[in-house]
Amino acid sequence: MESEFRQDPVTGRQVIIAPARDDRPHDFAGDLPRVNETFDPFLEGHEETTGPEVFAIRDQDSSPNTKGWRVRVVNNKYPAITPSDDIKSVAGLFARSTGFGVHEVIVECPHFETNLSRLSANHIGDVLLAYQQRLETHQQNPKLKHASLFKNKGALGGASLDHAHSQLIVTSEVTENVRLELDGARAYFEQHQRSVFGDIIHAELGSAERIVQDSENFVLLCPFASRFAYEMVIIPKQQICQFEQTEKDKLPELGEILKSALQKLETVLHDPPYNYIVHTAPFHSCDLPDFRWHIELFPRTTLIGGFEWSSGCIINSVSPEAAAQQLRDN
Ligand SMILES: [Zn+2]
Repeated sequence: MESEFRQDPVTGRQVIIAPARDDRPHDFAGDLPRVNETFDPFLEGHEETTGPEVFAIRDQDSSPNTKGWRVRVVNNKYPAITPSDDIKSVAGLFARSTGFGVHEVIVECPHFETNLSRLSANHIGDVLLAYQQRLETHQQNPKLKHASLFKNKGALGGASLDHAHSQLIVTSEVTENVRLELDGARAYFEQHQRSVFGDIIHAELGSAERIVQDSENFVLLCPFASRFAYEMVIIPKQQICQFEQTEKDKLPELGEILKSALQKLETVLHDPPYNYIVHTAPFHSCDLPDFRWHIELFPRTTLIGGFEWSSGCIINSVSPEAAAQQLRDN
């Protein structure tokens, strides 16, 4: 069965039904992550096992799909959605449509490494450059509207392979969470004529109690209403709504602050599973004055319980102020 978007008849919330994903290989036994002892498809020299690369940052004298790369992007072998030309949709009580889109994997380094944080800031900058390049490519496809960039680290973070990698899912619709943020940012702007992200940075730098790190162009902080213990967000100081519009010469600095955030998290929580997500405006959003791209980062150290599923309201047992202090000190 091909994957499909289905809409809940009561809430309108969308899900993707993707039975093919169940065939994925698993590096993890039960809930416990283990080091990959078997075949690593992402290793340099194993290029033929992943399918052809769609992008790579590689040595000038090397050829595609051979050794000599630093960051390599391939199509996901077990995609949640696919770029089928035959898009069907059915309206009504059980509204559904073809799972149309692109699902790619960004392999972050050619050698076996589980932790992005152990790569140099410049190398992490190259990973971020690969993100930008993919966004620039996909926005040329008129059928695609929005990209979700994310990293799953560890079994409890949702990863099925432990070689450092991140993923990109590009869809023809804006995802629900980004839609909420876009709407909230617009409403704030209409009321105050200022970007809520700019106001957050200004207020947080003023009080400093939730700031973890501050650099020339980016701020790392624990959000006021953090859902998860030790949740962090990186916000650019410049008003830029799309991640791909960030100047390329700032990516090593962003790589440095992302590396620092991950190192702090790994020190304080002893190498926890985590996710980070890049929230960016939909393609062709022309210089929105209200929404700003950002990277949300959260460890997966607590399970979502019944009340959270029931209410949508997450109980966080570590205050962001205490978390920020601990992260700053490490
Ligand atoms: Zn966000």
